[in-house]
Amino acid sequence: MATKVVIVTGGNKGIGLAIVRALCKQYQGDVYLTARDVGRGEEAVKFLSSEGLKPIFHQLDINDVNSITTAAGFFKQKYGGVDVLINNAGIAFKVADTAPFSVQAEVTLKTNFFATRDMLTHFLPLIKAGGRIVNVSSFVSARTLNQCSPALQQRFRSEDITEEELVGLMEQFVEKAKKGEHKDAGWPETAYGVSKTGLTTLTMIQARRLSKERPKDGILCNACCPGWVRTDMAGSKAPKSPDEGAITPVYLALLPAGATDPHGKFVSDKEVQPW
Ligand code: NDP
Repeated sequence: MATKVVIVTGGNKGIGLAIVRALCKQYQGDVYLTARDVGRGEEAVKFLSSEGLKPIFHQLDINDVNSITTAAGFFKQKYGGVDVLINNAGIAFKVADTAPFSVQAEVTLKTNFFATRDMLTHFLPLIKAGGRIVNVSSFVSARTLNQCSPALQQRFRSEDITEEELVGLMEQFVEKAKKGEHKDAGWPETAYGVSKTGLTTLTMIQARRLSKERPKDGILCNACCPGWVRTDMAGSKAPKSPDEGAITPVYLALLPAGATDPHGKFVSDKEVQPW
Protein backbone atom coordinates (compact mmCIF):
# COMPACT_ATOMS: atom_id res chain seq x y z
CA MET A 1 0.00 0.00 0.00
CA ALA A 2 1.19 3.53 -0.76
CA THR A 3 2.69 5.43 2.17
CA LYS A 4 0.19 7.91 3.57
CA VAL A 5 1.18 11.53 3.91
CA VAL A 6 0.05 14.56 5.89
CA ILE A 7 1.17 18.16 5.31
CA VAL A 8 1.05 20.98 7.87
CA THR A 9 1.62 24.60 6.80
CA GLY A 10 3.32 27.04 9.17
CA GLY A 11 4.75 24.07 11.06
CA ASN A 12 7.87 25.72 12.42
CA LYS A 13 6.33 27.15 15.59
CA GLY A 14 3.20 27.68 17.66
CA ILE A 15 0.10 25.60 16.97
CA GLY A 16 1.54 24.26 13.68
CA LEU A 17 4.56 22.78 15.45
CA ALA A 18 2.28 21.21 18.08
CA ILE A 19 0.07 19.73 15.34
CA VAL A 20 3.16 18.18 13.71
CA ARG A 21 4.26 16.81 17.10
CA ALA A 22 0.87 15.19 17.74
CA LEU A 23 0.68 13.74 14.22
CA CYS A 24 4.19 12.26 14.52
CA LYS A 25 2.88 10.37 17.55
CA GLN A 26 -0.51 9.36 16.12
CA TYR A 27 -0.39 9.21 12.30
CA GLN A 28 0.49 6.04 10.42
CA GLY A 29 2.42 7.70 7.60
CA ASP A 30 4.86 10.45 6.69
CA VAL A 31 4.35 13.78 8.47
CA TYR A 32 5.60 16.90 6.65
CA LEU A 33 6.50 19.97 8.66
CA THR A 34 6.46 22.78 6.14
CA ALA A 35 7.65 26.35 6.67
CA ARG A 36 8.31 29.35 4.48
CA ASP A 37 11.82 29.75 5.87
CA VAL A 38 14.14 26.77 5.36
CA GLY A 39 16.31 27.64 8.38
CA ARG A 40 13.37 27.96 10.78
CA GLY A 41 11.77 24.82 9.36
CA GLU A 42 14.90 22.69 9.67
CA GLU A 43 15.49 24.01 13.19
CA ALA A 44 11.95 22.91 14.13
CA VAL A 45 12.53 19.44 12.65
CA LYS A 46 15.73 19.19 14.69
CA PHE A 47 13.81 20.24 17.80
CA LEU A 48 11.18 17.53 17.30
CA SER A 49 13.91 15.00 16.49
CA SER A 50 15.33 15.69 19.96
CA GLU A 51 11.96 14.44 21.29
CA GLY A 52 12.43 11.22 19.33
CA LEU A 53 10.00 12.21 16.54
CA LYS A 54 10.61 12.04 12.80
CA PRO A 55 8.87 14.80 10.84
CA ILE A 56 10.13 15.53 7.31
CA PHE A 57 10.77 19.08 6.12
CA HIS A 58 9.55 20.70 2.90
CA GLN A 59 9.70 24.40 2.10
CA LEU A 60 6.28 25.99 1.59
CA ASP A 61 5.50 29.71 1.56
CA ILE A 62 1.78 30.02 0.99
CA ASN A 63 2.21 33.60 -0.24
CA ASP A 64 4.41 32.35 -3.10
CA VAL A 65 2.51 30.48 -5.83
CA ASN A 66 5.79 29.03 -7.17
CA SER A 67 6.48 27.54 -3.75
CA ILE A 68 2.95 26.07 -3.66
CA THR A 69 3.18 24.53 -7.13
CA THR A 70 6.67 23.16 -6.44
CA ALA A 71 5.43 21.49 -3.26
CA ALA A 72 2.27 20.21 -4.97
CA GLY A 73 4.41 18.71 -7.76
CA PHE A 74 6.68 17.06 -5.20
CA PHE A 75 3.81 15.37 -3.32
CA LYS A 76 2.12 14.27 -6.53
CA GLN A 77 5.33 12.71 -7.80
CA LYS A 78 6.47 11.10 -4.53
CA TYR A 79 3.13 10.00 -3.02
CA GLY A 80 0.66 10.20 -5.93
CA GLY A 81 -1.28 12.81 -3.94
CA VAL A 82 -1.94 13.87 -0.37
CA ASP A 83 -3.98 12.19 2.37
CA VAL A 84 -4.28 15.03 4.87
CA LEU A 85 -3.73 18.77 4.45
CA ILE A 86 -3.75 21.12 7.45
CA ASN A 87 -3.79 24.79 6.46
CA ASN A 88 -2.48 26.28 9.69
CA ALA A 89 -0.26 29.15 8.47
CA GLY A 90 -1.66 32.54 9.34
CA ILE A 91 -0.78 36.04 10.47
CA ALA A 92 -2.24 38.71 12.73
CA PHE A 93 -1.19 42.29 13.39
CA LYS A 94 -0.64 43.04 17.06
CA VAL A 95 -3.30 45.25 18.65
CA ALA A 96 -0.61 47.88 19.29
CA ASP A 97 0.53 47.89 15.64
CA THR A 98 0.25 51.38 14.16
CA ALA A 99 0.00 50.27 10.52
CA PRO A 100 -3.08 51.88 8.93
CA PHE A 101 -6.21 49.74 8.72
CA SER A 102 -5.99 49.79 4.92
CA VAL A 103 -2.55 48.10 5.10
CA GLN A 104 -3.64 45.64 7.78
CA ALA A 105 -6.66 44.69 5.64
CA GLU A 106 -4.61 44.04 2.51
CA VAL A 107 -1.75 42.18 4.22
CA THR A 108 -3.94 40.06 6.50
CA LEU A 109 -6.37 39.02 3.76
CA LYS A 110 -3.43 38.20 1.46
CA THR A 111 -2.12 35.45 3.73
CA ASN A 112 -5.11 34.23 5.73
CA PHE A 113 -7.62 34.19 2.89
CA PHE A 114 -6.09 34.54 -0.60
CA ALA A 115 -2.91 32.49 0.03
CA THR A 116 -4.80 29.76 1.87
CA ARG A 117 -7.20 29.71 -1.07
CA ASP A 118 -4.20 29.30 -3.41
CA MET A 119 -3.14 26.30 -1.32
CA LEU A 120 -6.59 24.78 -1.69
CA THR A 121 -6.71 25.50 -5.42
CA HIS A 122 -3.49 23.58 -5.99
CA PHE A 123 -3.83 20.84 -3.35
CA LEU A 124 -7.55 19.95 -3.48
CA PRO A 125 -7.12 18.04 -6.76
CA LEU A 126 -4.33 16.03 -5.06
CA ILE A 127 -6.38 14.97 -2.04
CA LYS A 128 -6.89 11.22 -2.18
CA ALA A 129 -10.11 9.34 -1.49
CA GLY A 130 -10.65 9.22 2.27
CA GLY A 131 -8.62 12.42 2.63
CA ARG A 132 -9.02 15.10 5.24
CA ILE A 133 -8.67 18.88 4.88
CA VAL A 134 -8.45 21.06 7.98
CA ASN A 135 -8.40 24.84 7.76
CA VAL A 136 -7.29 26.51 10.98
CA SER A 137 -9.67 29.43 11.26
CA SER A 138 -10.74 31.08 14.52
CA PHE A 139 -13.69 31.66 16.86
CA VAL A 140 -13.23 35.24 15.70
CA SER A 141 -14.59 34.14 12.30
CA ALA A 142 -18.03 33.48 13.83
CA ARG A 143 -17.94 36.64 15.97
CA THR A 144 -17.02 38.75 12.95
CA LEU A 145 -19.77 37.12 10.88
CA ASN A 146 -22.28 38.37 13.44
CA GLN A 147 -20.84 41.90 13.20
CA CYS A 148 -21.33 42.09 9.41
CA SER A 149 -24.38 43.75 7.85
CA PRO A 150 -27.47 41.48 7.57
CA ALA A 151 -26.93 41.32 3.79
CA LEU A 152 -23.32 40.12 4.16
CA GLN A 153 -24.29 37.66 6.90
CA GLN A 154 -26.94 36.22 4.62
CA ARG A 155 -24.39 35.64 1.87
CA PHE A 156 -21.76 34.06 4.18
CA ARG A 157 -24.38 31.70 5.60
CA SER A 158 -26.06 30.84 2.31
CA GLU A 159 -25.74 27.42 0.73
CA ASP A 160 -25.44 28.85 -2.77
CA ILE A 161 -22.54 31.28 -2.34
CA THR A 162 -19.83 30.42 -4.88
CA GLU A 163 -16.08 30.68 -4.46
CA GLU A 164 -16.07 33.50 -7.05
CA GLU A 165 -18.69 35.46 -5.11
CA LEU A 166 -16.75 34.99 -1.86
CA VAL A 167 -13.49 36.10 -3.50
CA GLY A 168 -15.32 39.16 -4.83
CA LEU A 169 -16.57 40.00 -1.32
CA MET A 170 -13.08 39.63 0.20
CA GLU A 171 -11.67 41.87 -2.56
CA GLN A 172 -14.45 44.36 -1.91
CA PHE A 173 -13.53 44.49 1.81
CA VAL A 174 -9.89 45.31 0.97
CA GLU A 175 -10.90 47.95 -1.58
CA LYS A 176 -13.38 49.59 0.80
CA ALA A 177 -10.82 49.48 3.63
CA LYS A 178 -8.32 51.31 1.40
CA LYS A 179 -10.86 54.11 0.92
CA GLY A 180 -11.98 54.08 4.56
CA GLU A 181 -15.46 53.05 3.40
CA HIS A 182 -15.65 49.50 4.78
CA LYS A 183 -17.98 50.38 7.66
CA ASP A 184 -20.45 52.09 5.32
CA ALA A 185 -20.39 48.92 3.20
CA GLY A 186 -21.39 46.75 6.16
CA TRP A 187 -17.98 45.43 7.25
CA PRO A 188 -16.70 45.46 10.83
CA GLU A 189 -13.37 47.01 11.87
CA THR A 190 -11.33 43.80 11.97
CA ALA A 191 -9.08 42.64 9.15
CA TYR A 192 -8.14 39.41 10.94
CA GLY A 193 -11.80 38.67 11.69
CA VAL A 194 -12.90 39.20 8.08
CA SER A 195 -10.01 37.06 6.81
CA LYS A 196 -11.14 34.19 9.04
CA THR A 197 -14.86 34.66 8.21
CA GLY A 198 -13.75 34.31 4.60
CA LEU A 199 -11.72 31.19 5.39
CA THR A 200 -14.54 29.45 7.26
CA THR A 201 -16.99 30.29 4.44
CA LEU A 202 -14.48 29.05 1.85
CA THR A 203 -14.19 25.76 3.76
CA MET A 204 -17.96 25.30 3.59
CA ILE A 205 -17.99 26.06 -0.15
CA GLN A 206 -15.15 23.58 -0.80
CA ALA A 207 -16.88 20.91 1.26
CA ARG A 208 -20.12 21.28 -0.73
CA ARG A 209 -18.12 21.09 -3.95
CA LEU A 210 -16.31 17.92 -2.82
CA SER A 211 -19.64 16.29 -1.92
CA LYS A 212 -21.00 17.16 -5.34
CA GLU A 213 -17.98 16.42 -7.52
CA ARG A 214 -16.44 13.48 -5.62
CA PRO A 215 -19.41 11.96 -3.75
CA LYS A 216 -17.85 8.52 -3.42
CA ASP A 217 -14.44 9.66 -2.18
CA GLY A 218 -15.39 10.26 1.45
CA ILE A 219 -13.21 13.35 1.81
CA LEU A 220 -13.98 15.45 4.89
CA CYS A 221 -13.19 19.19 4.82
CA ASN A 222 -13.64 21.35 7.92
CA ALA A 223 -12.62 24.63 9.50
CA CYS A 224 -11.75 24.86 13.18
CA CYS A 225 -10.73 27.06 16.04
CA PRO A 226 -7.76 25.83 18.08
CA GLY A 227 -8.92 27.89 21.08
CA TRP A 228 -6.99 30.80 22.55
CA VAL A 229 -3.44 29.50 22.58
CA ARG A 230 -0.11 30.76 24.00
CA THR A 231 1.93 31.48 20.86
CA ASP A 232 3.84 34.40 19.36
CA MET A 233 0.56 35.43 17.74
CA ALA A 234 -1.70 35.37 20.80
CA GLY A 235 0.81 36.11 23.58
CA SER A 236 1.56 34.56 26.94
CA LYS A 237 -1.78 35.22 28.68
CA ALA A 238 -3.78 32.74 26.59
CA PRO A 239 -5.08 29.75 28.58
CA LYS A 240 -4.18 26.89 26.25
CA SER A 241 -0.74 25.44 25.52
CA PRO A 242 0.13 24.85 21.84
CA ASP A 243 -0.29 21.09 22.42
CA GLU A 244 -3.82 21.74 23.72
CA GLY A 245 -4.47 24.02 20.72
CA ALA A 246 -3.51 21.16 18.41
CA ILE A 247 -6.21 18.82 19.76
CA THR A 248 -9.15 19.92 17.58
CA PRO A 249 -7.18 20.29 14.31
CA VAL A 250 -5.62 16.84 14.88
CA TYR A 251 -9.03 15.33 15.74
CA LEU A 252 -10.38 16.60 12.38
CA ALA A 253 -7.27 15.40 10.53
CA LEU A 254 -7.64 11.90 11.97
CA LEU A 255 -11.42 11.41 11.64
CA PRO A 256 -11.66 7.64 11.16
CA ALA A 257 -12.00 5.98 7.76
CA GLY A 258 -15.65 5.81 6.72
CA ALA A 259 -16.71 8.78 8.89
CA THR A 260 -19.22 11.07 7.16
CA ASP A 261 -19.23 13.98 9.57
CA PRO A 262 -18.31 16.61 10.50
CA HIS A 263 -17.97 17.88 6.94
CA GLY A 264 -18.20 21.52 5.83
CA LYS A 265 -18.47 22.62 9.44
CA PHE A 266 -16.82 25.03 11.84
CA VAL A 267 -15.53 23.05 14.83
CA SER A 268 -14.20 24.14 18.20
CA ASP A 269 -13.27 21.89 21.16
CA LYS A 270 -14.21 18.96 18.89
CA GLU A 271 -17.81 20.26 18.69
CA VAL A 272 -19.59 21.66 15.63
CA GLN A 273 -20.34 25.35 16.24
CA PRO A 274 -23.27 27.43 14.96
CA TRP A 275 -22.54 29.51 11.87
P1 NDP B 1 2.24 31.84 15.20
O1 NDP B 1 2.43 33.27 14.83
O2 NDP B 1 2.91 31.30 16.42
O3 NDP B 1 2.62 30.89 13.98
C1 NDP B 1 2.16 31.18 12.68
C2 NDP B 1 2.82 30.23 11.73
O4 NDP B 1 2.35 30.54 10.40
C3 NDP B 1 4.34 30.38 11.70
O5 NDP B 1 4.93 29.13 11.48
C4 NDP B 1 4.56 31.28 10.48
O6 NDP B 1 5.84 31.17 9.91
C5 NDP B 1 3.49 30.70 9.58
N1 NDP B 1 3.26 31.54 8.41
C6 NDP B 1 2.85 32.82 8.35
N2 NDP B 1 2.80 33.24 7.06
C7 NDP B 1 3.18 32.18 6.30
C8 NDP B 1 3.34 31.97 4.91
N3 NDP B 1 3.14 32.94 4.03
N4 NDP B 1 3.72 30.74 4.47
C9 NDP B 1 3.94 29.74 5.36
N5 NDP B 1 3.84 29.88 6.69
C10 NDP B 1 3.47 31.09 7.14
O7 NDP B 1 0.65 31.66 15.31
P2 NDP B 1 -0.26 30.51 15.94
O8 NDP B 1 0.49 29.26 16.05
O9 NDP B 1 -0.93 31.10 17.12
O10 NDP B 1 -1.38 30.40 14.81
C11 NDP B 1 -1.56 29.27 13.96
C12 NDP B 1 -2.93 29.39 13.32
O11 NDP B 1 -3.94 29.36 14.35
C13 NDP B 1 -3.16 30.70 12.57
O12 NDP B 1 -3.89 30.44 11.39
C14 NDP B 1 -3.97 31.53 13.54
O13 NDP B 1 -4.73 32.51 12.88
C15 NDP B 1 -4.82 30.46 14.19
N6 NDP B 1 -5.38 30.81 15.49
C16 NDP B 1 -4.58 31.04 16.57
C17 NDP B 1 -5.12 31.34 17.81
C18 NDP B 1 -4.28 31.55 19.01
O14 NDP B 1 -4.85 31.83 20.11
N7 NDP B 1 -2.96 31.42 18.96
C19 NDP B 1 -6.58 31.45 17.98
C20 NDP B 1 -7.35 31.17 16.79
C21 NDP B 1 -6.75 30.87 15.60
P3 NDP B 1 7.06 32.17 10.30
O15 NDP B 1 7.64 31.66 11.59
O16 NDP B 1 7.98 32.04 9.13
O17 NDP B 1 6.47 33.55 10.46
